[in-house]
Amino acid sequence: MTSKAPDPADFLRERLPVHREWRRHLHKHPETAFNEHETSAFLVERLSAMGLEVAHGLAGTGVVATLKGRSPGPAIGLRADMDALPISETGVMAYRSVNAGTSHACGHDGHMTMLLAAADYLSGQADIGGTVHFVFQPAEEAAGGGRRMVEEGLFETFPVDRIFGLHNWPGLPLGQVAVQPGPMMAAMDLFSFHVHARGVHAAMPHLGTDAIVAAGALVGSLQTIVSRVTDPSRALVLSLTQIHGGESLNALPDHVELRGTLRYFDAETGATAQHRMRETAAGVARSHDVAIDFDVWPAYPVTRNDAAASRVMARAARLMPDAPPLVGQFAPSTASEDFAFMLQARPGAYAWIGNGRETALHNPAFDFNDDLIPIGARYWIEVARAALGQADATRIQAVSSSQGDDQ
Ligand SMILES: [Zn+2]
Ligand SMILES: [Zn+2]
Repeated sequence: MTSKAPDPADFLRERLPVHREWRRHLHKHPETAFNEHETSAFLVERLSAMGLEVAHGLAGTGVVATLKGRSPGPAIGLRADMDALPISETGVMAYRSVNAGTSHACGHDGHMTMLLAAADYLSGQADIGGTVHFVFQPAEEAAGGGRRMVEEGLFETFPVDRIFGLHNWPGLPLGQVAVQPGPMMAAMDLFSFHVHARGVHAAMPHLGTDAIVAAGALVGSLQTIVSRVTDPSRALVLSLTQIHGGESLNALPDHVELRGTLRYFDAETGATAQHRMRETAAGVARSHDVAIDFDVWPAYPVTRNDAAASRVMARAARLMPDAPPLVGQFAPSTASEDFAFMLQARPGAYAWIGNGRETALHNPAFDFNDDLIPIGARYWIEVARAALGQADATRIQAVSSSQGDDQ
């Protein structure tokens, strides 16, 4: 076993070459939702080598490693996501993805590494009071691995008082933490419209009904829900993302399908949008003499931070050496995140940490910034200490008097 320096900064600096290798290995071998088998095996091996109790198989490929302190105290969960995206990487670095059409374009390779690096340090600390569960969750990208872990008994098997999540964020300076109480990310619903008409020869449209013209009217009318129906002070996004119909150049199809997504932060706005979408479909169907089936189903709830847990993450951010100042109040993202299911089940909080770059998440050129590994790992260590009530009291006092109260 490596001898572990008491100071996290020294430890993380010394271990950076190893941690960077972990990150690059994970980047080179990306696996999509619920297929993270090699990823899972890699995590189990590293975490076991740290002397942690390691459980795997929850939600298929999930991994939970447990650190039990010598003295009693709270139990917390620190969560990282594991999956890659079905995106072909355009980067040409030596560790580029070897799995065709798959890449870590959201930086989950870095999320796993930051948490592994934090576990690497914390597993060598004899003075931990309480329990830390390092939770590695599969299938964050649209497949709801977070929900499946909760349904399969994550918090019954590994009880926690609080659960914390962290995502690298482009557009924020390196190491800058953004966390606030309440919504961080939006709720997501998915929907579909099926337009059924009587397809006919395109030269004789009067003999049938036209699914394409009806679909066009529907696309136009749906735009007025955000602009004219819901309260402008309450965010709503209605995006149509797919439209399918027609096979021939000289026939009107009898079926067109439209699909899309809704994003919002309060249930009332979501319900109003759904109701008006149904009414719009009925009106368009009547005026175009077609039938329209409308289906909408919830995908992810709002990622809503508990106020006290959010304060823990803010306090940890203020204890970070040389970090840009905390962003403690901001507009939540209209993207969605399945950590929301864990936050529905237990109080907790989710933060963004700046990766110091501009490349957007899910861009085929995205590559996690390795400079964030020791910073993110240090942040996890501070979150764990703050949540377990072991943050250095003198440092907290110094920070609060210079930066004001974090309530
Ligand atoms: Zn993503
Ligand atoms: Zn992500």
